[in-house]
Amino acid sequence: MSLLSFVGCWLNHHKPDRRKVEWDGRGYVGHCRHCGVAIERHSRRNWRRQKPAGDHSHNEPTAT
Ligand SMILES: [Zn+2]
Repeated sequence: MSLLSFVGCWLNHHKPDRRKVEWDGRGYVGHCRHCGVAIERHSRRNWRRQKPAGDHSHNEPTAT
């Protein structure tokens, strides 16, 4: 474990715990070995924090 690892986490560049990586039918998912957050693989060596299910914050209609 190193300080640089956490800098990566702050920048949303996580590293999977490879022993726990799973295929969920659409992509690889797992947990960051450094900070433990749920992550998903976008491409090789590119793991990002998983978006929470049902996050409609960007599509929410403005209240009238
Ligand atoms: Zn992390």
